[in-house]
Amino acid sequence: MSSMIRLLVLVLLYASACLAQGPKILIVTDMEGLGGVNDREEQLLPGQRRYEETRRILTGEVNAAVQGAKDAGASLIVIWDGHDGSRSLAVDEILEPARLIQGKPTPANYYMGPKMYDGIIFIGQHAMAGAHGVLAHSQSSATIKQITLNGKPVGEMGQVAAIGGYFDIPVIMLAGDEAACQEMLALQPKAVTVAVKKLVGKNSTDSLPHAQAKRMITDAVRRAVQQVKTYQPWKLAGPVDLMFEYSNPAGKISHFQGQTVLEAFEGWLGKP
Ligand SMILES: [Zn+2]
Repeated sequence: MSSMIRLLVLVLLYASACLAQGPKILIVTDMEGLGGVNDREEQLLPGQRRYEETRRILTGEVNAAVQGAKDAGASLIVIWDGHDGSRSLAVDEILEPARLIQGKPTPANYYMGPKMYDGIIFIGQHAMAGAHGVLAHSQSSATIKQITLNGKPVGEMGQVAAIGGYFDIPVIMLAGDEAACQEMLALQPKAVTVAVKKLVGKNSTDSLPHAQAKRMITDAVRRAVQQVKTYQPWKLAGPVDLMFEYSNPAGKISHFQGQTVLEAFEGWLGKP
């Protein structure tokens, strides 16, 4: 009898531990990869004619992701506001229970730490500089031609994936333009992606209706979070070389080196 009770207690303890420890999810946001966004003169910065429309779309796509993570039983959902110096979202428009990190610079150990999250999700993401995608770029500088990590070209999602990988956190899902989805799948073949738009012609875009994009994001995030334990983080072997190549001045190159990817980034950004 006592062994039965012991078993029951163990089962209950295990069940409550599972409930308390649903996956912890970090959502990294940007604006250039949102549905319907294709004009940097009108849609990306405060004061521009269609900026409030972009903010509305951002909030809709982000909340769709929060809903998917919630549905899949996430125990922690944190949003890191990644556009324009981390000041694009409004906390009164974010769905519970997600928390919102804003402000610049975000302390590195606050943004990410060893196994702080089980998976990273990108919303509104664009492809790297030089890619055939909508508003493709790397970092805020229009003068960056290419960024590489140990010789491999990376955009913003690749840099986040490398830092996440250092902390054993995999990237698991991305919503953005079609080129960004392809870039994500090259990094993480098991990622669940939602192409909310694609580049057509030189500067035009073909976007899904916002309501459909939101439904697809909720479904995709739910699936990714449900299978979060099956993803591998991107581990970069050290020493790590972080290289920036500029188009202006043309041919200018900077290198930052470290024993780990974190040290290489600290070399560039300065220690926290
Ligand atoms: Zn941005």
